[in-house]
Amino acid sequence: MATLSRLTGVSVGELKGIGPARVAQLARSGIHTVADMLHHVPRDYLDRTEVTPIAKTMVGPEVTVVGEVRSISSRRARGNLHITEARVGDDSGTIKAVWFTKNYPYRKVKEGDRVALSGVVERFRGSLQMKTPDAEVLDRTPEQIVTGRIVPVHPQVGKINPRIIRDAVHNALKRSRPIDDPVPVEFKAARGLMDRDQAFASIHFPESREETASARERLVYDELFRLELALALRRRHMILEAKGFAHAPTGELAGPFLDRLPYRLTEAQIRVLDEIRSDLEATHPMHRLLQGEVGSGKTVVAVASLLGVIEAGRQTAIMAPTEVLAEQHYLGVNDLLAQAALSPGLRGAGERLGMQSLFSGDADPAVHLALLTGSVAAANYDSGISRPQLLADIAAGQVDLLVGTHALIQEGVQFSSLGAAVIDEQHRFGVAQRVQLREKSDGAEPDILIMTATPIPRTLSMTLYGDLDVSLIDEMPPGRSPVRTVLLSKAEERIAIERVESEVAKGRQAFVVCPLVEDSPKVEAASAVGEHRRLAGLMPGLRVGLIHGQLPSKEKEAVMASLRAGELDVLVSTTVIEVGIDIPNATVMVILDADRFGLSQLHQLRGRVGRSSHPGTCLLVADPSTQDAADRLNAMVESNDGFRLAEEDLRIRGHGTVFGTRQSGMNDLVLADIMADLELLVAARRDAFGLVDSDPDLSDHPELAEEVSAMLGETVDWLFIA
Ligand code: ADP
Ligand code: MG
Repeated sequence: MATLSRLTGVSVGELKGIGPARVAQLARSGIHTVADMLHHVPRDYLDRTEVTPIAKTMVGPEVTVVGEVRSISSRRARGNLHITEARVGDDSGTIKAVWFTKNYPYRKVKEGDRVALSGVVERFRGSLQMKTPDAEVLDRTPEQIVTGRIVPVHPQVGKINPRIIRDAVHNALKRSRPIDDPVPVEFKAARGLMDRDQAFASIHFPESREETASARERLVYDELFRLELALALRRRHMILEAKGFAHAPTGELAGPFLDRLPYRLTEAQIRVLDEIRSDLEATHPMHRLLQGEVGSGKTVVAVASLLGVIEAGRQTAIMAPTEVLAEQHYLGVNDLLAQAALSPGLRGAGERLGMQSLFSGDADPAVHLALLTGSVAAANYDSGISRPQLLADIAAGQVDLLVGTHALIQEGVQFSSLGAAVIDEQHRFGVAQRVQLREKSDGAEPDILIMTATPIPRTLSMTLYGDLDVSLIDEMPPGRSPVRTVLLSKAEERIAIERVESEVAKGRQAFVVCPLVEDSPKVEAASAVGEHRRLAGLMPGLRVGLIHGQLPSKEKEAVMASLRAGELDVLVSTTVIEVGIDIPNATVMVILDADRFGLSQLHQLRGRVGRSSHPGTCLLVADPSTQDAADRLNAMVESNDGFRLAEEDLRIRGHGTVFGTRQSGMNDLVLADIMADLELLVAARRDAFGLVDSDPDLSDHPELAEEVSAMLGETVDWLFIA
């Protein structure tokens, strides 16, 4: 009796036919252990169950015949070429079999043996013959592996012949079976899952085609179940052991803030705000993913949540992926606070010289908001604040809400007491950084809200962020008009330019995005400058600005300010405007060479328009050269639903590449395809979380616990960064 976890400790070198050279080749494909080998499942099967009488064989398809060896002989043809020929006969006739070797396995075949041959029949010099068939001697073979049955075809690894792999797998099974099954019987019963031992046997050497499907289902379930168990354990750990803040909001800031918004929150916003608030009040640290379409109103909800933490006496932070976005968040939050009369009186140079602030004595409570990026330090309570002063204020607890880039936590910023942080755009923010964040606040872990406008398919968020709670804003504020998307060839670029001109004539603004041409930021900048010159030439009379990643922050800020102020009609940019930019007056988005962008990115870009009651248009200019690119562009035209598009993206690109990093744990899925196996994923998740609820450290299921850590290896280390 072997357990999978034990088999993860046995090298493939132990298997028949696998010497050091093959061990090395297998290792390059990630097959190190017998457990890995058992998960190297056939890519196809040959049905050799039907035996054809020799007289009925025909040129063409593969057949299996069974007969007696009437004669067999080997000769050297020339050089190293050996030819082995056998004549095999049954009641109906005889046929010649020929192999171009004298070795394995045919040298074991002798005259008088009863053999099964499986292979393709061809006509050679007027008679039928089987060329290099698989052969097995029936009476001396305890079990037929390659004839007279469903025969597995394993994926080739390196230069290793699939026949060798098949034999090695057979040997692995023979020596490991029966394989122990630690999955609780009630889970198996509920889904009618095959026993694990049977599943390994059936996937590799099935009795019938049908059982391979059940076998695969069982192995996929196990793989997903292990992953979900690891996630459930991690989550459990956070709840039980991680020390967080139980914030006690008073409502003195969030109350007026919400009351004074110029609109009412949508039902979805209210629901999500409630979810976040109960997390804030609970003792365990919040780890919540806030998902919602671009423009669905996540920011307002995030700010209202942070106000609750500030009321309760702790500091908060918002972190964005880029400086431009951090600045934009700062300006946006500043507007929101001002509109709710929660801004402090601005202290300027005058007060520092001993003069009274105009606003001093203001009865309203105020929120001290600040911005800190690599190049900018700003605060809403001190117009001339210096960087050292701001750092000192943060450390002294003077700053209630600090906006910055993700780099905030990597630099020497010291908070007095960081109670909660909002992280904009999760996929640019790793788990390691989450850990650093916790270290910012004397042992207790701040509540973390990860806000993403990148629609993560439900399927993926469930596995990737399985340790996070998910809140979804699935409703747009009223009065938005959907963006119309049009596909243009490069020859039709003129149509896009005319559209830009006609919208500008109506007082609207436009974005033109050109793709990143090279990996090098310098080259990218040069091409953006070139495109800007070309486009400005095509639109004489329009005020065309330019923004790209290489511009100094001050200049980016200035460009964004003039766009907001309506001093620019058109903004030419690289993808720096991808996320978060909020210019409600912009109604046209032109994306040049749109085929070079991923689907999620295209959808993000499109979300920059249609943010007001003016209808928006997105013009995709491209001559796609691949089918995938054409599929992406068509998907954009057909759907405005980010979640649907994300699923589509997943389908087109395959799940391995969507997040593309080791940290996801998804790249380690060998058998499961989260799109195709969604139903099993849901089941495995429910079972795993249920089990961990009743047996929090799996002490009643030690074999399962061992299997999770043995099978997930490094991934588990990642999952358990706690
Ligand atoms: P997101 O962060 O999800 O992209 P924002 O929070 O930036 O969305 O909101 C986009 C725009 O919609 C902002 O101008 C915001 O003021 C506005 N908005 C947010 N919630 C509502 C609502 N319930 N009704 C009307 N407008 C809203
Ligand atoms: Mg936003």
